[in-house]
Amino acid sequence: MNIVEWFNKAFGVKKRKGNELNTNCPKCGHKDFHFNHKSRVGFCHRAGCHWSPSFEELCDIAGYTPDEVSFMPDAPQEEIKEVTVNLPGERLCFYSLDQLMTQSQEALDYLLKRGLTVDDIIRWKITWDGVRVYVPVVKEGQLYNYVGRDLTGTEILKYKYCTGVKTSHWMFGWDECKEWDHITLVENTFNSIAYRNQINCTTNFGSYLSDVQLNLIKKSKIKTVLILWDEGTHNTAEKTVKRLRYSGIHAAYCWMKGQPDDWPKSEIINIACVLKELAEQNKTEYDPFNIKKEKLNG
Ligand SMILES: [Zn+2]
Repeated sequence: MNIVEWFNKAFGVKKRKGNELNTNCPKCGHKDFHFNHKSRVGFCHRAGCHWSPSFEELCDIAGYTPDEVSFMPDAPQEEIKEVTVNLPGERLCFYSLDQLMTQSQEALDYLLKRGLTVDDIIRWKITWDGVRVYVPVVKEGQLYNYVGRDLTGTEILKYKYCTGVKTSHWMFGWDECKEWDHITLVENTFNSIAYRNQINCTTNFGSYLSDVQLNLIKKSKIKTVLILWDEGTHNTAEKTVKRLRYSGIHAAYCWMKGQPDDWPKSEIINIACVLKELAEQNKTEYDPFNIKKEKLNG
């Protein structure tokens, strides 16, 4: 929703002239309150008021930002279709008489290479169907979705999710994450498992935090969000930090080079550590690989 639609929904536009939207003053009720949607500043023309709220103040009064407008209590409810999710494949690893068994040494080696441990594979109930390894995504104790990664190189989609499920409406391992005081977001599910224990890692399944996911964070105990999305996502990451901060959550992002698992674990843990401090000081970004600096110089 754009800012004009947002303003109209929140305050009602009586007249519109150029960039000026006229409504009754949200503070004193006078008829001559104007909001300039380009400069994003409001002004009440009543001499005794002259209230001049910033965009942020108006968002506070409205109770939602243009991005969050779908969370208005009176917004039409989305139709919820029940989808039965069946996890493909069989458990990749399991113990039989204390002996570790695997369905596929190749799949196991792939996951170990991505930084997962055998314990991770067992804990997260990862399966294998001869083509893909599948990570089940559980919501409130029930199977909600899965992420299937092709290991044969023959599938059109490298990553596959369950059809008919809104992947962007949940985050990985969220039943547990929502109790934490901070989280680190990465794009990739395997990365999120590999770093989960060290830096409270989860994934939003890509480099876009949906409004539904933002709302999950708002409703959780999380106070700080660190963004470690892959290289080239700094614009989206910066916007996401602002959306989180506006929701009262500390946030900062890293200018990543490649993906988190291109680097030694210790380096990523250090980055997350610094990022958390920066986020708590309301700093927006961290550039440990000097990407931004190189961009500015080159
Ligand atoms: Zn006024």
